[in-house]
Amino acid sequence: MIILKSPSEIAAMRVAGSILAAILEELRAMIRPGVSLFEIDKRAEQKTQYYKAIPAFKGYNGFPASICASVNEEVVHGIPGNRVLKSGDIIGLDFGVVFNNFYADSAITVPVGQVSPEVDRLIQVTEKALYLGIHQAKPGNRLYDISGAIQQYVESNGFSVVRDFVGHGIGRKMHESPQIPNFVGNDYNPVLKTGMALAIEPMVNIGTYEVDVDTVDNWTVRTADQKYSAHFEHTVAVTETEPEILTLLRPELLPEV
Ligand code: MG
Ligand code: MG
Repeated sequence: MIILKSPSEIAAMRVAGSILAAILEELRAMIRPGVSLFEIDKRAEQKTQYYKAIPAFKGYNGFPASICASVNEEVVHGIPGNRVLKSGDIIGLDFGVVFNNFYADSAITVPVGQVSPEVDRLIQVTEKALYLGIHQAKPGNRLYDISGAIQQYVESNGFSVVRDFVGHGIGRKMHESPQIPNFVGNDYNPVLKTGMALAIEPMVNIGTYEVDVDTVDNWTVRTADQKYSAHFEHTVAVTETEPEILTLLRPELLPEV
């Protein structure tokens, strides 16, 4: 069952989303050769405390950090440790917060120093695919209109979409119905309605869409062929008019601290 949110619930999610966006922008500004994933995670945790929000991932099924930090061939769910970034890397920063009982979830992929033209194109295509998917999040459309817009754009650019991990509804829980694949399948394909809140998150690979989960940490997801992968995500509300991105920085909504 898909939980529809009232305007006041969407307003609460907008505040959570704004806090999240402010923190993600700060993390983006830290990205350069020589910075460690641990430092980025520490900053995320400090800033989340500053806004009196709660990091959503920490402790989620035992996840040990505030952010997911996924470098190069890592797709999602990387654990930030003492790895140090170097020029030519890319890093996916996936972050969630809870504020006043509502979740927000967003991800960006950032190049470190100078990356190859192909990797730069991977990042551009993944981010544009996210916005093409968001554009379909309108009442009367179906879920697979989002999925299809993402898949079509990604594949027409010669890349692949990950099958094993998908987007999701979001609200008072981080993961609600529906699952939002980045490809058109044969499963649940509901009509979209005003009040739905959706975390849309294309994960795009240069090579095969197949991925493996690390057998030691049981978290880090990597491409099966070790080629690079990018990830972008926004939390979006379906409205009567245009889709509203809730994970945008609106400074006037940030709580006074
Ligand atoms: Mg996320
Ligand atoms: Mg998500």
